[in-house]
Order: sequence, then structure tokens, then C-alpha cells
Amino acid sequence: MFYSLLLILQLYRLAFAHKIIVVGGGPNGLHSSLKILEASDKSEVKLLEFRLNFDRPQVVRMPYSSIFKLPEEVKDKLFSDTESVYMDDVLGPRKKTDPWFWPNSNDQLWNSPVLKYLPKIRIGNLQEAIYNHISTDFKFKNRFTRIPGQCTVEDFVKHCETFKPDLVLICTGKDSDKNKFTEEIRHFLNTSQGLPEEVPKKGNRSENEENQVGIYMTFAAKALDNYMRGSEILAMKSGIGYFASNDANKSVQVYSFPHQDLPNLFKGMPQCFKTDAAYITDCLTLSGTTRKREVTQESTTWLLSNYAPVVKKILQEYNVEVPEDSNICVFYGPRYEYYYENVAKTYTYGKGQECKTIPILFMGDSAGGTDYRLGLSLSRGMKLMELLGDIMKKEGITSALTHIGTTYSKMWATVLKTEFNQNNPRLRYKPNMVYRYALEGRTVDGVEINDTHPIALITKG
Ligand SMILES: Cc1cc2nc3c(=O)[nH]c(=O)nc-3n(C[C@H](O)[C@H](O)[C@H](O)COP(=O)(O)OP(=O)(O)OC[C@H]3O[C@@H](n4cnc5c(N)ncnc54)[C@H](O)[C@@H]3O)c2cc1C
Repeated sequence: MFYSLLLILQLYRLAFAHKIIVVGGGPNGLHSSLKILEASDKSEVKLLEFRLNFDRPQVVRMPYSSIFKLPEEVKDKLFSDTESVYMDDVLGPRKKTDPWFWPNSNDQLWNSPVLKYLPKIRIGNLQEAIYNHISTDFKFKNRFTRIPGQCTVEDFVKHCETFKPDLVLICTGKDSDKNKFTEEIRHFLNTSQGLPEEVPKKGNRSENEENQVGIYMTFAAKALDNYMRGSEILAMKSGIGYFASNDANKSVQVYSFPHQDLPNLFKGMPQCFKTDAAYITDCLTLSGTTRKREVTQESTTWLLSNYAPVVKKILQEYNVEVPEDSNICVFYGPRYEYYYENVAKTYTYGKGQECKTIPILFMGDSAGGTDYRLGLSLSRGMKLMELLGDIMKKEGITSALTHIGTTYSKMWATVLKTEFNQNNPRLRYKPNMVYRYALEGRTVDGVEINDTHPIALITKG
């Protein structure tokens, strides 16, 4: 009797379930899955992800409100509760309940770089914490499935035919040499419009494009430090913005671009750095020892005699030491923002009466939109999904799904208008960005920053 009842309940749930396919289980795919599962107990998520382990070491910055709204269990995994213990996944030995963990009300917003206001988490830990939560929490029982393997466009079509989703989220990030799914699915859905001509193609850069490209250099710092201090001043004056420091493993990323003394250096950059727009990992130390990959004599000379000394000298002026035995990795990266114009599309599957037209949304890096200093595409994806989740909760998922594509497109249009390519060569922090990704929802000096708070009125511009 009990089992029959369970079976009936299960069949009932299946008949009325809202089915969502999420392609890609990066931070955006997992966060989106969580938001959808939380939005309705009738939602079911199938996540297609080909990585077996979540072990990516980069530190990612996230909007305050998105991380604050994560389930307690997830936050417990990410933040230390012991002030004396330095967790390797959190940049600061503070308790998550300590208001000083979040804001730093000693700093005047306008006198300090705002980056420090963004919570930062090791990417793999964030993925693992969310994944474990959605696969084990009782609330999501039988509503979340992970399908391993690399999804192709044919798989996508097949999954739609068999699973009959009401919504698909593409969260497959930026393409790599081995995986071109984002480009292929965009081509398949005829939604590739954006600014591809502004994205330099490997080995095919014009003189003009070269001026828009910068160099990433990473090295291991000697001690834990917050290398974000003064970053805005550095970026403005010297052509160096060193914004990403990973206190977990002491690695520092320095980003330099053609400005002040640096354009001449860029002119002499060896071809191998230009065409290999990828990490040349563990390649050199300042004392000239090479590791792992082979680098040409030309590039060694350029790095050690030209590039590194200039960058080192500038950094020294700001008390940032590049240790002699540090591994220096250099790679070439675009320094402007780029994005796709369309982030929502409809897709029709099935035949005859079974035929169904559904929305497909591109989130996070697959929507494009990287920012060379803030790394904002993750933040934007999380923030926008958080808003979509709120709408689903408020008006019910059935109603929300009828206009989710239009709603998301409108949100994206606002993002494009307010945040991208502001004709400002240094991409200064736009007030609206500061509000949305760093401040909204935060309590500073006991007062929550919301739309009516004086800081919000200034930062929303
Ligand atoms: C080398 C590198 C260093 C970075 N460093 C920093 C940093 O220091 N700080 C920072 O804030 N940001 C950094 N970023 C940016 C940050 O990692 C991204 O903004 C963020 O990861 C975007 O999340 P996402 O979920 O949109 O995409 P991704 O993280 O790219 O996730 C996409 C997921 O989809 C999966 N996938 C892709 N194709 C398929 C397919 N065909 N089938 C199944 N699964 C698929 C992938 O396995 C992956 O898990 C870095 C990015 C890179 C590439």
C-alpha cells in the first residue's frame, strides 16, 4: 500500500515535472542547477558534464548577494568558522558570520579598489560544494541527475527528444582546442552574433589588434598577501594591473598591457607567445632555468632580458616582490571585453503533436563577456540566474518559463548597455557594476545596502 502510494506520487510528479537540461557543470552550470531546483519542487535537472573531478585551482570572484544566498551547508564548506585557521579555500581567516569578513568599512569605497569587496573562492571547491549539496540533499531527491560524457550537438538533439525538457541552459563556458561545443551549438541554433571580429584569432592578429592585447604573467609569491592593493593606481599609471592573487596557493597573476613604457616591449614580443594564446606553464624562472615545456632561445631572451625586468621594477615600486626562483608563466590575452549579443533562443523538437518549442539560455562564459580585471562573466551568470530563480519562485515556474527567454534577453541588454565597452580604455569600475556585484545585499556598519541606501544611489549612477 505504502509503496503503491509512493509510486503514484512519483508518477504524478513525473507528469507535472518541469524538466531542465543544463549543459556544463562549471560554477555557472552548478549554481544554475541549484537555483532551478530551489525555485520549485516540481523542477527536475539533468546536468551534462564531462569532467570527473572538480579540481580547478583558480580563484573566482562572485557577487556578494549570490554567495550570501548559497545554502548554509555550501557556505559551511567554503568558509572557515575558526578564526585561527587559515582555510585554503577562503581568502581570509574570518568567520563567515563575522560582518568584517564581508565588508571592510574602514575603506572608503572611492579611495580603494573595489575588488576586495568581491568574495573569492577556489573554483573547484565551489563546484564540489554545490554539486555535493544538490546530489545529496533530501529536498532534491530524484530531481537531479548527472550525465557524464562530452556532449555533442547530436547528443543535445537526442537528449531533447528523449528527456523532453521545458528549458535548456548552455553553461559550457569558453571553447578550447579540444572542445568546441559552445561554438557548434551557437552555429546550430543560428545565434553566433556578437563581436567576434574584435576577438583576436590565434596567429592572425593585425597591427591594430595587437594594441588591444595584453600579457598575463603569473608567479608564486613568497608569502600570503593581498596583491590587490593599489591595483587601480598601477593599472592607470604603468600599464600593469595585478588583480588576481590566490592566497590559497600564493600564486599571483600580473596583467600588463601596452601603456606608458610597455608598448615597446610588446612590439618585441616573440611569435611563440603571440600564437600560443595559452598557458606556457612552468616554463621559466627568473634565473633562466626552463621547466617542462620547450621554449625557444628567442622567447627566453625576451622574457628574461626585456619583459620581466621592466615588470619587476614597476612591481617593486609598489612593494611587490617577484622571487628569483619563481616560475614565470606568460601568455597572451585580449584586454577588452567581448560578448555575444544573443543569449536566448528558442528550439523546436519532436514531431506532430509531440512538437515543442522551448527556450535555450546561454549563461556565464558561454554568453561571452569576460573582463580582464574583474573576471565578471561568472559573476554576471550567477547574478542573472539568481534573478531568474527569484522570478520562478515568485510567480511560479510554469508562468516564468513562458517568458524566461524574453526576460533574460532584457536583463542581458541592460548588462550590455551599462557594462561593456564603455569607451574607457582602462575599463574603470563602473558604479553600476560595483553595486550589483560587490555591494548589493551587504550589511555595512549594521545597515543593509539595498536600492534606497545612500551608497546604492551613488553606485547605481
Ligand atoms: C585559465 C583560466 C584562468 C582563470 N582564472 C580566473 C581567476 O583567477 N579569477 C577569476 O575570477 N576567474 C578566472 N577565470 C574565469 C573563470 O574561470 C570563469 O569566468 C568561470 O569559470 C566561468 O564559469 P562557467 O561555468 O560559465 O564556465 P566554465 O567554468 O568554463 O565551465 C564550463 C563547464 O562545462 C563543461 N563542458 C564544456 N563543454 C562541455 C560539453 N561539450 N559536454 C559536457 N560538459 C561540457 C566543462 O567541463 C566545464 O566544467 C579563469 C578562466 C580560465 C580559463
